[in-house]
Amino acid sequence: MPAPSQVNPATTVRARWCFPVDQPGWENAWLTLRDGRILERGKGPPGRPHIDLGDVAILPGLINPHTHLEFSNLNDPLGMAGTPFPEWVGAVIRWRRGQVSDPTIARAMKTRAIQTGIAESYRNGVYAIGEIASPPWQDWQYAHSLLPIRLFHEFLGLTSERSEAAWSYVANLHESMAPAADSGYQQLQLGVSPHAPYTVRLEDVARLGSKAAERHQPLAMHLAESPEEMEMIDRGSGAFVDMLRSVDAWDPNALGSRPSIRAYLEAVFASPVKQFLVVHGNFLRQEDLDLLQQFKDRATVIYCPRTHAYFKHPAYPLQPLLSRGIPVALGTDSRASNPDLSPWREAQSVANNFPEIPGDQILRMATMNGARALMLENGVGTLKTGTPWTGIAVDSRGLSSNETDPLRFLLQKEDAHPYPVWPLAPGIS
Ligand SMILES: [Zn+2]
Repeated sequence: MPAPSQVNPATTVRARWCFPVDQPGWENAWLTLRDGRILERGKGPPGRPHIDLGDVAILPGLINPHTHLEFSNLNDPLGMAGTPFPEWVGAVIRWRRGQVSDPTIARAMKTRAIQTGIAESYRNGVYAIGEIASPPWQDWQYAHSLLPIRLFHEFLGLTSERSEAAWSYVANLHESMAPAADSGYQQLQLGVSPHAPYTVRLEDVARLGSKAAERHQPLAMHLAESPEEMEMIDRGSGAFVDMLRSVDAWDPNALGSRPSIRAYLEAVFASPVKQFLVVHGNFLRQEDLDLLQQFKDRATVIYCPRTHAYFKHPAYPLQPLLSRGIPVALGTDSRASNPDLSPWREAQSVANNFPEIPGDQILRMATMNGARALMLENGVGTLKTGTPWTGIAVDSRGLSSNETDPLRFLLQKEDAHPYPVWPLAPGIS
C-alpha cells in the first residue's frame, strides 16, 4: 500500500443537476473523484469540502465518433448548402490539390488543422473522437493529443491496380498500424476504414473487416450516403460513375456480382468484427435495416444531422433505426460540410427535428453509443462509479424541478453550451 502522502487526495464537485446517462438524472448532485476516476456519487449536501459548480448540469463528456480533423481550419463548409454530393467531393479534391505543394509545409498545415480540431472539440465538451485519417497516414500528427482518439486508417482504391497499390502501402506501414507505446501516443487507438462504395472494392471491405477483427479494432465505412451512390449501386450509372470514368478510376466489377448496400453489410458481418460503424446511412432500405437489426450488437449507425441537412437529403430514417433497437450515435463529420465540431449542436438539431424523441435517448446518442462504437473503455460515455471522469457542465438556469423532460429542456435552451470540467480531477495526465 502506498504511504498516505503518495495517495492523490479526492476532489468533490457539486452541481445543481447530474445526468450520468447510465441512470436517470437527479437534482443536488455531487461526485467524488480520485486519480481521474469517479469514486462515488450522491445527492444532497456533500458533507465534505467541495467545488461548487453552481446552477449547471453535469453530463459525461460527449463522444464524436465521426470526423475528419484535417479540415478543421476551414472557416466555412466547401460548396454550398444543397450541393449535389459528387460535386462536393470534387470541391474536396480541388481543395486538397490547392494546398501548398511543398510536402513539408503541407504536412505542417495538416498537423495544425488536426490540432486545431482537437482543441475545438475539447472546448465543445468532447471527451473522445473517432477520426478518419486519410493516407498518407501520419500518426505522429495526433501525438500528445489532449483527448482520446480512435484513429481509423482510411483505405481507398476502386480499380484492381489502385487496390493493389493501397495494400502494398498498408504492408509497408507495420509500424504505423501499431503506434509505439511511448507517451505521445497514449491517447491513440487504431481502427480501419474502407472509405465508401465509390472508392473501395467490395472484396477489400471483406478483407479489411477480417483485419479489424484480428486486431480487435472497429471498422468504419461511409455507406448509403447520397442518391448518387445509390444510383451507382442500383444502375451502374450516374454522376459518380461519370466522375470516376473521367479520371480512369471506374471498375463495375468492384461492386461485386449483385451490387447493393446489403452486400457491404454482409461482407463486414461475415467477419467477427466487434464494431462496425455505418457512417451516415441516409439511404438505408428495409433490407439493410433488417440486417442491421440482426447484427445490432456489433453495429452502430452514425448519424451526422447537420451534414445531412447541408446536403438537403430527404428525411433521415432515425425512427426506423430506433424502433428496431439499432444503436445510433451522433457525429459532426468535418468542417468541410459542417460549421463546427460540436456534438451538442448535433444533439440540439435532433431535439428540434424529432420532437417525439426523449432527451435522455438523444444524450445517449451523443455519449454512450459513440463510446461503444469506438470500443472505448467500458463505462466511458457515462458517469458510472469507477469509470474515468469525463464530466462536462451545461448551464441549467431556468430548469424547473418539475420539468418532465429536463434534458430536452437543456438541449432546447439557446444559450446552454457545454464546457469541460473533467480537468478538475487530480490524477488526470
Ligand atoms: Zn465522413
